[in-house]
Amino acid sequence: MIPAMRDVIVAANWKMNTTPADAGELARTIASRTREPGVIRVICPPFVCLAAVRDALAESDPDVAIGAQTVHHELAGAYTGEISAPMLAGLATWVIVGHSERRRDAGETDELIGRKLTRAVDAGLRPILCVGEQLAERDAGTQEAVVQRQLTGALAADDPERLAAAGLVIAYEPVWAIGTGRNASGQDASAMADAIRDALEAAGLGAGAAAATPVLYGGSVTSANIGEFLAEPAIDGALVGGASLKPDEMAGIVSRAGLTARARRAAA
Ligand code: PEP
Repeated sequence: MIPAMRDVIVAANWKMNTTPADAGELARTIASRTREPGVIRVICPPFVCLAAVRDALAESDPDVAIGAQTVHHELAGAYTGEISAPMLAGLATWVIVGHSERRRDAGETDELIGRKLTRAVDAGLRPILCVGEQLAERDAGTQEAVVQRQLTGALAADDPERLAAAGLVIAYEPVWAIGTGRNASGQDASAMADAIRDALEAAGLGAGAAAATPVLYGGSVTSANIGEFLAEPAIDGALVGGASLKPDEMAGIVSRAGLTARARRAAA
C-alpha cells in the first residue's frame, strides 16, 4: 500500500509524570506548539490527569486526541485500583495497550493484552498496541520472531479485521531503547514494520488492511532523531516517552512529522 494513505501519528506517553494541577498547562503548551496539518497528535497522561487535560484541550485545541496509558481487561468488578474501558468515556478516545513497562511491572501477557484490546475496541477507543524485543533477543537475532509472537498472541482472541476497522495502531518499541537514550536504527525499525505487517496478515488480517495499519516507532525518540525514522516509508510516526514532557522536543518531533504528512499528501 502507498504510505500516503496511512495516518501520521505522534503519541505522547507521559507515563507516571504530571499532576492534575500542572497537566492541563503542559497539554495546552504542547498543543499550541505542535499545530501541523495532517499529523494526528495524541497525549496520554496518567488517569488522574485525564480530566484536566481534556478541559485544557477543549478550550485551546480540540484537535489533540487524549489517550489512556492502559485499561483493564474486565468491564467492572472487584479489581481494586483498576480502570475499565467504559470508565474512560468522555475522558479519552485512544488507549495504549501492552506497553513494555506494563508487561514488566504488571506481568501483562499477550493473552491478557488481547483481552484489553477487545475491551478497548468495544468501548470505541482507538488502541495503540506496543510490541518489542529485549536486548538479549535482538542480540540473538530473534527480534522478529518475538514481535510476531507478541502480535499473534494479542490478536488471537478477536477478529483482526474488527480491530483494524477500529483503527488499530502498532507501536514497535524495542525494550532496550525505552528511556535509555539508545535507539534502533531507522533501517531496523523499517524492517520490523515490514515484519509486523506480515504478522498481521498471518494473524488473519487481509493484505490491504495489514498494509494500511499504521506502525509507529518508540524508544528514546527526540527531535534530533525522529527524522531517521520518518525517512522510512514503512514508519508512520512515533510513540514518545521522556521527550513528550518537553514542549520544545514535541514541537520539533511534530514539525518533522508534518513534513512526512505533506509529502504523503503530495504523493497521494
Ligand atoms: C515509551 O514510553 O513508549 C517510550 C518510548 O519512552 P522513551 O521515549 O522515553 O524511550
